[in-house]
Amino acid sequence: MENTTDRKRIFIVEDEPQISRFLQLEFEHENYDCTTCGDGREALKIALETDFDIIILDVMLPSLNGIEVLRRLRQDKQTPVIILTARDQVVDKVTGLDIGADDYMTKPFAIEELLARVRKLTKRTAAPAVVLSCGKLSVNPEARVASYDGHQIDLTKKEFDLLEYLMRNRNIVVSREKLIDAVWGFDFYGYTNVVDVYVRYLRSKIDDVYGVTIIETVRGAGYVIR
Ligand code: CA
Repeated sequence: MENTTDRKRIFIVEDEPQISRFLQLEFEHENYDCTTCGDGREALKIALETDFDIIILDVMLPSLNGIEVLRRLRQDKQTPVIILTARDQVVDKVTGLDIGADDYMTKPFAIEELLARVRKLTKRTAAPAVVLSCGKLSVNPEARVASYDGHQIDLTKKEFDLLEYLMRNRNIVVSREKLIDAVWGFDFYGYTNVVDVYVRYLRSKIDDVYGVTIIETVRGAGYVIR
């Protein structure tokens, strides 16, 4: 399911109705979109089907305990999870962190502390690295990695810059002058054929290798990735 609002989606998995209700009210007050569940097996199903920003997961649950829910969830998803343990469940804490919990809290806890930890963990996931993709081609500007169908493409700096610019403007025909301006700068004004040369380099590394047409030439206008 896709989140269509800016509100963070939190999944509260807790079988004690008072605690669950309390957490729901607190998080709703903080403008989170809350889903609750008190059963382990049911919670696992919901957690696998829905893209939450964070899950608060109690350990002692009916039908499937929280550790087992987390273990199975982690086979498919990396949704941040904070596990809730009772004061004496040291083993659960260790096991929980071992199998991929992002944090844990011991009951009883101060709600402010839980809110702070949730804010911290949802902040991390709120801004995922922007990956530009077009079919099987993907470009990660932050990591400066380009790949086709999962295979990394070895590009020089200018090749990458050119590809990134075209990907950022995909479906828009970009003129050679504009590409010179964006990728090479004013030193290259008048040398628009440098664009053609670099497009050829990119084609030799992508199109020729994978038998596709990534960069289209639009005669008299420029280049475009669609
Ligand atoms: Ca419980």
